[in-house]
Amino acid sequence: MEIFDAASNIQDLQYFGEFGGVNPSISDSSTYTFLSAKAMFDTFEGNTDGCYLYSRHSSPSNLYLSEALAKMEGTESANVTASGMGAITSTLLQLCKSGDHIVSSRTIYGGTYAFMKNFLPDLNIKTDFVDINNLEKIEKSITPNTKVIFCETVSNPLLEIADITALSKIAKKHNLKLIVDNTFSPLSVVPKLLGADIVIHSLTKFINGSSDSIGGVICASQEFINDLKNVNSGACMLLGPTLDSLRAASILKNLRTLHIRIKKHSENALFLAENFEKIGLTVKYPGLKNHPQHKLYSEMIQTEYGFGGLLTLDVKTAEKADQLMELMQNENLGYLAVSLGFYKTLFTASGSSTSSEIPEDEQKEMGLSKGLIRMSIGLDHDIKRTFEKMKKCMQKVNVI
Ligand code: PLP
Repeated sequence: MEIFDAASNIQDLQYFGEFGGVNPSISDSSTYTFLSAKAMFDTFEGNTDGCYLYSRHSSPSNLYLSEALAKMEGTESANVTASGMGAITSTLLQLCKSGDHIVSSRTIYGGTYAFMKNFLPDLNIKTDFVDINNLEKIEKSITPNTKVIFCETVSNPLLEIADITALSKIAKKHNLKLIVDNTFSPLSVVPKLLGADIVIHSLTKFINGSSDSIGGVICASQEFINDLKNVNSGACMLLGPTLDSLRAASILKNLRTLHIRIKKHSENALFLAENFEKIGLTVKYPGLKNHPQHKLYSEMIQTEYGFGGLLTLDVKTAEKADQLMELMQNENLGYLAVSLGFYKTLFTASGSSTSSEIPEDEQKEMGLSKGLIRMSIGLDHDIKRTFEKMKKCMQKVNVI
């Protein structure tokens, strides 16, 4: 894989605060003044550079964070949003109109699935959900009305890997946009390098990393970002999924340590995955040789960031999963909580939480067992100690 130094791209940005501060000043205004009425009119028309009009459209703090994220993903531009769902829904609504069609991976975050399955059909936008590793089926699902192929680099919660290079070839052949949700694999994977057109993140997860904010971003060409912000027809402007400036400023500060955090998340997750496997647990982790797309993923990643911070354990039944998660929380090994990318380990039984929007029969078909625990591994300083403590919990609830 071509090396892409996203962390240095972020480091090389230099912002000064209003009074020479080392952090840019936070734009604490919803509206901006103009010295002349004509300058205001021109700004409305999009004909002035560097002028701000109204913070739903654009604000300095949001632009700083957007710029840093575009640097991270190697795209021309980016636009931050109030949530990952704000990024996903705005992008899809910008690209798909009544009568259009989406081909989506069937293993995606439950909220994204629910939006496509339940919300978009009322706008006459239909989605086919397909096994993302079945490229033949993906291509066969494309109709004359298809506008978009949607996938997650590493899927939530099954940790399946999308072959972005192959999907991008299909997308280009049929003149479609390939949208990749890269939330699980920031820095590890740079989807644009592999041919993605639009890259989305929930900033809520690893990028912010402190589980105190909700946010999202769309990284894409300047043309598409301009479309999203267009005052007459842009989904980001008209639907209003605007990130608050105070939050944008705090997420930017956390972004600066992402490269250090991701390495530690990956190192800890690989250690646990290997050791869970040794003690006979059913563990899925892209860094393990038995992961079905291990070889593919090894070729996709920026190796220094590893295989990511997420792994799954299948303890077969919902009862065992619940017992184990409650015990691990009582032993202070992490939190029984949705979300990911926190400094402490977070665990959930996905079938009954973040993927509960997916009907049971479909969960079964895609291999989402009731006993599947998704773990976002934390930044534990002594991961061997963590493993020994987790092993004791597993022995207590008889899963090993
Ligand atoms: N994409 C993925 C892969 C997610 O896991 C999530 C949330 O869990 C989202 C998008 C939605 O992000 P947000 O909760 O910030 O709206």
